Amino acid sequence: MLVTAALVAAVAILVSVSLPPKRLAVTPQPDGTVPGILHVHTKESDGIGGPDEIAAAAARAGLKFVVFTDHGDATGEPDPPAYRSGVLCLDGVEISTTGGHYIAIDMPKAPYPLGGEPRDVAEDVRRLGGFGIVAHPDSPKPQLRWNDWSVPVDAVEIVNLDTSWRQWAHQANAPADPASAGSQRWSARRRLLAALAAYPFRPAETIGSLVQTGGVVPQWAALAAGRRVVMLAGADAHARLGLRADPADSAWALPFPAYHSSFRTMSVRVALEEPLTGNADADAARLMRAIRAGHVYTALDSVATPPSLDVVASNAGGTGRPGDQLAPAGPVSLHVRSNAPAGFTTVVWNGANRVGADHHEQDFTAALEDTGVYWVEVRSSDRAPDVAWLTSNPVYVRDASVAASDARRSPAATTTQALFDGRSGAGWRVEHDPTSLAAIDVAPIVGGAELRFRFGLSGGSLVGQVAALVVDTPNGVAPADRVMFTIRAEQPMRVSVQLRTGGGVSGRWARSVYADATEQEHTIFFDDMRPVGQTITPVPPRAEVRNMMFVVDTINTRPGISGRIWIKQAVLAK
Ligand SMILES: [Zn+2]
Ligand SMILES: [Zn+2]
Repeated sequence: MLVTAALVAAVAILVSVSLPPKRLAVTPQPDGTVPGILHVHTKESDGIGGPDEIAAAAARAGLKFVVFTDHGDATGEPDPPAYRSGVLCLDGVEISTTGGHYIAIDMPKAPYPLGGEPRDVAEDVRRLGGFGIVAHPDSPKPQLRWNDWSVPVDAVEIVNLDTSWRQWAHQANAPADPASAGSQRWSARRRLLAALAAYPFRPAETIGSLVQTGGVVPQWAALAAGRRVVMLAGADAHARLGLRADPADSAWALPFPAYHSSFRTMSVRVALEEPLTGNADADAARLMRAIRAGHVYTALDSVATPPSLDVVASNAGGTGRPGDQLAPAGPVSLHVRSNAPAGFTTVVWNGANRVGADHHEQDFTAALEDTGVYWVEVRSSDRAPDVAWLTSNPVYVRDASVAASDARRSPAATTTQALFDGRSGAGWRVEHDPTSLAAIDVAPIVGGAELRFRFGLSGGSLVGQVAALVVDTPNGVAPADRVMFTIRAEQPMRVSVQLRTGGGVSGRWARSVYADATEQEHTIFFDDMRPVGQTITPVPPRAEVRNMMFVVDTINTRPGISGRIWIKQAVLAK
């Protein structure tokens, strides 16, 4: 009994000293936005709730929309928009790439599994008309962290609630060796223990207290310098806390944080051009139009709620709101109006740089330079840790031409070697795994011939199905620095163009391309290829290359699928 009493006392003390401050109830000041949340997992993947249950939790938290994003390869038909418990439910998908997770919303089902490199998945999502969001880019787990910031993505999660606690857990488990990391490790452990003790009493405030904001602002700003990249937040709500590395291992999961608590912690607030009507299809279209335009801000409701934020940039040429592009026309004045409680600080940013003095008033106008990517953060500076309570999107004050194209080097080139002579298939052959089929023939066309590659991946489970069209390059591919080819395919698909070295230093490097029934010319620079697995160098050693291959495998093709690909010309060039 003495032990129990001591434990109870210890827990009581821990709770009382670790309770995060109760969220502030601020004076409502309607700003016309609609609150909702993105990035929610249902029991379709690794969440524990069904859509109805989750929507009901969102309704209780005061949200008007929820975006489900179960894990998948985007080949499933998304559920149509629907109202449940008065909450508009949208269905998206979270796609695993080799360099992190990418959320696609507002997209029809994909004709083939989306996967592979981040740049390929982002390209496919864009082609299919979807809106792509980088999920938890700053995850402490390397396989979940976004690894390619050159990809032209549509949006970035600047906060992810699931990542927030993982970052603390990562620090708590950090190796003990460096002298300085030791104390950091213990403070992270204390932090998590305190959160565990406080959670039953103030769940939303506890989840919010683990949030660290601003981690990916530099990466976001670098992208936003060239194009519109929407800042969003993701709940990444599962209503379960996996204790094992394998997220599917539900035997080792705790049933919290509850959906309702996650939804009371954070929201995104969307400024619609027209109000919601109650018609799910029409409202989904309005909501998505506004999110795509960046007419949205993020609020950490566990700090204070309901938030209000209005930002308008103006110059001699006109006015713009967050998400908008405003043509440069002399000095910019940024008018900011919020319901920030006393003691909070409003910071104006230009990309990754703070500009001007901090503001402590709810209504002010900042004088800014002619061009910039201007956004606003309201910080809860009176409490520890200092976090962004509200984060706006930027007004882009710049010429439309600054929105740079993603064009690479000019394709102007001189041929060094024809891999296909337009007549015979000499030098070409096929390779495939024992269960799959592949064949090559030369099909006559007007004025010559084209290579026809037929493949059939075996059905059933994954057994390393692969079919490849191969051409030998016995003397290497130097001095060429690229391959140029014309390709079409019977059905939409991705083909992985690969170089393979021979002998004792065998390795492969790949660049995947999209192909469909429309003939397309492609140029692939060898230094733009990425290693397949472990390789000796990050780029292919051109003199050592012995084969070039057009590979069909299960990264982007389902088992059991067969089809045809035609190659009309293929040349090495520099
Ligand atoms: Zn994820
Ligand atoms: Zn997720």
